[in-house]
Amino acid sequence: MNRLLLSSTAVTAALLLTSASAFAGTGGVDPDQPTPPGEQSGGVGYGAPLVTLPGKPRLSAQKLSSRTIKEGSRASVVVRINRSKGTSAQVKIAIARKGAATINFVAGRVTTNRSQLIRLPQLAAGSYRVTVSIFGASAQEIIRGGVMRLTVKSKSVAKPKPTPPATPSPTSGVFPVRGAYSFGGDGARFGAGRTGHIHEGQDLTGNSGLPVVAPLAGEVRFVDYQADGAGRYVVMRANNGWDMFFAHCQYSSAAVKAGDKVKAGDRLCLLGSTGASSGPHLHFEIWPNGWRDSPGTKPIDPLPQLKKWAAN
Ligand SMILES: [Zn+2]
Repeated sequence: MNRLLLSSTAVTAALLLTSASAFAGTGGVDPDQPTPPGEQSGGVGYGAPLVTLPGKPRLSAQKLSSRTIKEGSRASVVVRINRSKGTSAQVKIAIARKGAATINFVAGRVTTNRSQLIRLPQLAAGSYRVTVSIFGASAQEIIRGGVMRLTVKSKSVAKPKPTPPATPSPTSGVFPVRGAYSFGGDGARFGAGRTGHIHEGQDLTGNSGLPVVAPLAGEVRFVDYQADGAGRYVVMRANNGWDMFFAHCQYSSAAVKAGDKVKAGDRLCLLGSTGASSGPHLHFEIWPNGWRDSPGTKPIDPLPQLKKWAAN
């Protein structure tokens, strides 16, 4: 090696050229392993012959500016590298976290013989082991400082409130039955007991054949039949996201099919008594988060909304 004969500037250049491969060789470094006291004045075991140069750098001090920071801010390490010759040294900082790939942060060349602040990259919340490494007398010689522990605290973000299936404020629209109707008694209400289940809608009693219309503009999702329950039924999704369910329509009365766009007031079907029904009525439901789209979705009491539409 003729590097011994080169000026320190030339050594610096040589180190820069070989730095990538030299640091690539530190993959086996265990950041948990404290640096032996003697290591900073001697060679480390990378299998390379120890070459001692005058002006060999020493990592004489290292300290995290703050051991705990908030996510989004950046930690800093203050290092001091003493060297009797030369004005800078190459620094790499390993930032290790359990369960994550170690970040090998190349801080570049750092001025020697005075304290220098090195800003670390932004880190996700977690506990880190930070290890500073510098080149020793040769590109093969890596000098590591002790492990510093850094905690990055997660930002205390306001937890989004779980969206309650609370009744949305009533919106203007068109009453779903055209003609004389009744809200009926307690048994016609949302939440009334039924054999094996709870009534999930509001019954609107009226004469057979009255037009059942879309209260809001939207799109028809389903037109189907359930013999032992809803009979002929229509499900539409309003443009505000609500699903609405219209049951017990007359046979062959559907005026729409799945996928049809409807305006408020457009006819869907005719009031009837198909399925499990003891007399002509529209069974009406509102599902703000989708009609039976997932086990978590639930209908709301549609009566306040119906009353608002009735008053329009
Ligand atoms: Zn009903």
